[in-house]
Amino acid sequence: MIDSVEQNDIVGSTSPRCADGDNLLMDLFFSNDDRKIARSKAICATCGMRKSCLDGAIERAEPAGVWGGEIVHNGVAVTRRPRRGRPRNTPPVVTTPDD
Ligand code: SF4
Repeated sequence: MIDSVEQNDIVGSTSPRCADGDNLLMDLFFSNDDRKIARSKAICATCGMRKSCLDGAIERAEPAGVWGGEIVHNGVAVTRRPRRGRPRNTPPVVTTPDD
């Protein structure tokens, strides 16, 4: 476990937290698994490059992945990872308890 001094150093760091030199974290940052996405976001949360990372991903219109702590899809930061397959042509049917 890291102590608070090391944690502060990480938060103030300008080096990417995801760059391990061997791309071992690539699977986390480009996954469709919600747990892996959450883990990559947690890594980003301690990275000092979040803003520039996200700005760069949007500018480059990155097709997918977690960048700057956000899920990016086709150059747009989205709140959820998009579902696989073709999007719906019709809105989902909404039911209420009275139905
Ligand atoms: S903010 Fe960007 S550079 Fe930092 S860990 Fe996340 S993806 Fe990597």
